[in-house]
Amino acid sequence: MRNSTDIDQLLAALPKDATCYGYCPDCDEVHYLTEGNSRKYALELMAELEQHKRIDFRRPDPEPIFSTDCLWGKRGGQMFGVLECIDADGKTIVLRAFSGQFNTRWQAEGWVPPTFDLAGYARMMAKIEAAVQHMTADIESCTQKAEQCKLKFEEAMRSAGRAAQKDCRRQMREALKTLDLAKKNRRTYSQSMLADFQDLYQLQNFKGNQRSILNVFYEERGIPTGSGDCCAPKLLHAAAQNKLTPLGLSEFYFGKENKASTRFHKEFYPGCKNKCQPILGYMLCGL
Ligand SMILES: [Zn+2]
Ligand SMILES: [Zn+2]
Repeated sequence: MRNSTDIDQLLAALPKDATCYGYCPDCDEVHYLTEGNSRKYALELMAELEQHKRIDFRRPDPEPIFSTDCLWGKRGGQMFGVLECIDADGKTIVLRAFSGQFNTRWQAEGWVPPTFDLAGYARMMAKIEAAVQHMTADIESCTQKAEQCKLKFEEAMRSAGRAAQKDCRRQMREALKTLDLAKKNRRTYSQSMLADFQDLYQLQNFKGNQRSILNVFYEERGIPTGSGDCCAPKLLHAAAQNKLTPLGLSEFYFGKENKASTRFHKEFYPGCKNKCQPILGYMLCGL
């Protein structure tokens, strides 16, 4: 495993037309894809988005939630991607992806699914919600108890003897300690659930490996939220699972420019540095 300066140097030496790339620790080299013929398919997709103004245009009965109106609202636009592939018979297959969720939905007809296990996600969310609810109720009852103890202590300070005051103070301190512990429990639980959630991302590559994103993401700064949800990892994961060979990848932004003014309507962008590059080397491995 090289250090980040070495990796940056390797990345800088890439062909300028690379659209999707990353360092692969297994091979100690950078793997990459160029756009190939995918730009043509990306332009077709843009035209369809403009024409239909929704993303579920392959369905006869459109759902309002899939309208592209949301891409012009407060939240701004979104990244879309296409992957040009060939199957075992040499037939061209074009996969399409939207980044993250589209208007709160992870899945839509005609688009590749997310890279994590959706059913496992739903089960986990239900479990987390129930547990967090339980812990929140616990915090509430501890808060009430602490308040009661505080009132009792204040009362004792006004009218009771020293022994009773001391006893009330001890009870109040204990109640506050229990409350702190209950709050800490909920925090620790949420943090531990984050790792379990990230473990649902079982990324497949072209060597036939399937690994948790926890073991793929090689940088030590922690996995950023949304890593694995961009178009490139979604597309590559879907291609690997369906035994397709990718030839070219394009990602473009569609909708109102983002707040940071780094993404513009219908512009093309390479795979992002923070969330994607540390996993794309692994994902492209075996091509
Ligand atoms: Zn990305
Ligand atoms: Zn490799």
